[in-house]
Amino acid sequence: MKVKFYGTRGSLPVCEPGFQEFGGNTTCLQIRFEDTGRIGIIDAGTGIRKLGRDLKAAGHFQEEIVIGFSHFHWDHIQGFPFFGPAFDNNQRLRLIALGKGREISNLQDIFTFQMQGAFFPVQLDNMGAEMIFFQPNLNTYELRGTKTSAIRHNHPGGAYTYRVERYGKTFAFCTDIEHGKGIDQNVVDFCKGVDLLIHDAQFTKEELEKKRGWGHSSYDQAIQVAEMCGAKQLVMTHHDPDHDDVFLKKIEKYCQDRFKDCVLAREGMEVQV
Ligand SMILES: [Zn+2]
Ligand SMILES: [Zn+2]
Repeated sequence: MKVKFYGTRGSLPVCEPGFQEFGGNTTCLQIRFEDTGRIGIIDAGTGIRKLGRDLKAAGHFQEEIVIGFSHFHWDHIQGFPFFGPAFDNNQRLRLIALGKGREISNLQDIFTFQMQGAFFPVQLDNMGAEMIFFQPNLNTYELRGTKTSAIRHNHPGGAYTYRVERYGKTFAFCTDIEHGKGIDQNVVDFCKGVDLLIHDAQFTKEELEKKRGWGHSSYDQAIQVAEMCGAKQLVMTHHDPDHDDVFLKKIEKYCQDRFKDCVLAREGMEVQV
């Protein structure tokens, strides 16, 4: 599998010159399955717009595109109304909210609401693509040889860590998580032995103290989770909109001194799993 970061920013997109290396778009991941050439997506932050454009430019078409959601805060759905394939009459989209205990009542309502006339000129029903809204009360779902699991973790309104496995390779995507006093052991167990851990790292240790209850992690906590679950590689993401490239590069050096095989996610970066 190849995981590509189309959005690395947390909370809000930023476009100032000092933010170009790590990127300004909000959360969106593309997973490419090299054996079939198919792709899957997790989260539809503003980065999904470019993802859609890249698919078109490459002439990539698959009859169904799956988009899994960690949760439905703005920065994880904001790009959806700008996702090109959603406007294609020949396209089917399967939007999935995997994991038991979801607080949302109806998945379709979230997108209908987001695109109602007061907020957006085109309504969901008029986009064009066929859309399947799939909200199984399951923690594991297998589709076309890929096993995807999700568990709930602490975040305002709830968010989910995803674990994706195919042909013996595994990665976990754990964003918008606030650990308690210690590290959430359920998350550690869930991510045991992954080849790649992608973890929220919005704050420094000091910032986290001031932002308890905001739903995020520190760099140190991301490293702790990676160490505890035995991840081979760590990528940290959901960068705070106040953290510019200079700041993030400094932090990255600090993190690499603690955990050798780690980087901070950059928009456009692709990682082999
Ligand atoms: Zn977020
Ligand atoms: Zn969130």
